[in-house]
Amino acid sequence: MLVFDRRSFLTSTALGTVASVCSGGPAAAIGGLDPPSEAAGLYSFTFGDFRIAPVCDGVFHLPMDSIAVNADANERKAYLHSRQMTGDTVQLQATPLLINAGDKLILIDTGVAPGSDWAPKAGRLVKSLQHAGVEPSDIDTIVLSHCHVDHVGGLQAAAAEGFAKAEIIISETEFDLWNSPDAASKVPEWAAEGVPGLQTTFAELGDRIHPVKDGASIAPGVSALATPGHTPGHMSLLINSGSDAMLVTGDAITSVHVAFEHPEWQIIWDHDRDLGAKTRATLLDRAANEKLLVIGYHYPFPGLGHVVKDGTAYRWLPADWVWDG
Ligand SMILES: [Zn+2]
Repeated sequence: MLVFDRRSFLTSTALGTVASVCSGGPAAAIGGLDPPSEAAGLYSFTFGDFRIAPVCDGVFHLPMDSIAVNADANERKAYLHSRQMTGDTVQLQATPLLINAGDKLILIDTGVAPGSDWAPKAGRLVKSLQHAGVEPSDIDTIVLSHCHVDHVGGLQAAAAEGFAKAEIIISETEFDLWNSPDAASKVPEWAAEGVPGLQTTFAELGDRIHPVKDGASIAPGVSALATPGHTPGHMSLLINSGSDAMLVTGDAITSVHVAFEHPEWQIIWDHDRDLGAKTRATLLDRAANEKLLVIGYHYPFPGLGHVVKDGTAYRWLPADWVWDG
């Protein structure tokens, strides 16, 4: 297994160095072989001046009837069946992103809290970071795209001691929403139960939290992009180096299964479903026109690719997994 220590992660200039996807299931002995059920859980590549690694937190499942909720019933059924999506649930990856920005290590989103009943196959972020030779205490900056539990859970699980020195960057709108005294009444019912725990985490982190506005610079070449709808203060990121540009969508383009072909189809996880669809359409158009490298938090690992126009809709083109060395 190829494992990076922190030094090699920080200094590598390879075009695409690979560890492997974590699988999590029990190992199967085949013909006497007993391959490990778990591998390193990261993929890394060079992007201009940056070294970037999608880091596997694991997978979880959501009800199938939570996506494409405004689609015509017959069209929806035919669409999902044509993609073999006939079960009661849809699987989502959770993929935080580790960025070596030269003088600091940035982590975008933090996965699910380990041991969560609703996501027993997620919560592996720390293990995956350690496979890269990176401890949570090495992280200088954590950027939260938004405050849903599959993005902040890992931070909540290790806020004080784990990510010991990290500053926390979050959009001002998002922080004000979730930290307000009446936050539970301002978010969807399914999200409200997470409010007390989140506010406790915010209190623990204190002045390590740095709320920012749209367009804020997080590091040279890394800037915030307001993408409201999924949550009011949802924040994507743009990473620029020379002529290269990358869009880190967070959950602004959530479902790889429907968002490209039917960006107008809504998901119940968007706080404002109409605004979510509008933001999605704007981002897809920009990604296609500007040929951005895109990474989606919930896409099949490692979740990198490009967006192309296809008539009035779009298609997702997963990037090749480039082996190095
Ligand atoms: Zn999410």
